[in-house]
Amino acid sequence: MYICINCGAECKELFRRYCPSVLKILKCEKCGFVADKYIEYDPVIVFVDLILIEKSAYRHLLYNSTFNAYWKLGIILWLTESFRAWSFCDITETDVPASEVDLVRDDAVQDHCNFYNLLIHTALAFAAFICTVIIVTELKWFIIGKKPYKYSIKDLSRALIVGGCGKLLGFLGIVWRHIASGPYYLLIQGYTVLCLLTAYSVVCKSGRGGSLIGLIAGFLLYGYICTSISSVHLNIPNITLT
Ligand SMILES: [Zn+2]
Repeated sequence: MYICINCGAECKELFRRYCPSVLKILKCEKCGFVADKYIEYDPVIVFVDLILIEKSAYRHLLYNSTFNAYWKLGIILWLTESFRAWSFCDITETDVPASEVDLVRDDAVQDHCNFYNLLIHTALAFAAFICTVIIVTELKWFIIGKKPYKYSIKDLSRALIVGGCGKLLGFLGIVWRHIASGPYYLLIQGYTVLCLLTAYSVVCKSGRGGSLIGLIAGFLLYGYICTSISSVHLNIPNITLT
């Protein structure tokens, strides 16, 4: 079963093929618009609309497309974010003079700047975020009782992976190192939050406010885990000043 990308209503079919070279795109019975205009568009246009955080593009990707490589997307996201954190850690260390680094570099810091440790921490942060959002959402359905009939945990997990791909912009920080940290990274974080809110609202059929309630606990836990990881890196210059 497909869905209309305009209103989210279910559609039995998106197009009707009359012969191998002729097909007709069908309209949604509920809203009257073309159910899914993206089926005749180039994938690049869908990608651009995803970047522009168009809700209809998210609906197309999650429900009407044949894209199934979400686990690959998750692995790319995981490796990229780990590498960005490791690269940031590396930059922070090299900013400090070698003699001072020798004084402050202890085993704990070395452990936290270890790439394999960062991989584990990032995986833990991602898993905690997804699990928390799923649990809070299930609690929300249990309390409010307005669970969409098409909602599933699998779709929500996929939506969170797609929404979280805004973080891939952080990979640019490895090319242009100056945007890897500080207020520039906050812009990427803000963009990722908007992507996640849109993806969540598509699956759970909620507004931005309802989506924020569902995601806020996940954001807090993810932020806590990431802060606990990066605090060791950020403490390096402070230690040297004392
Ligand atoms: Zn519709």
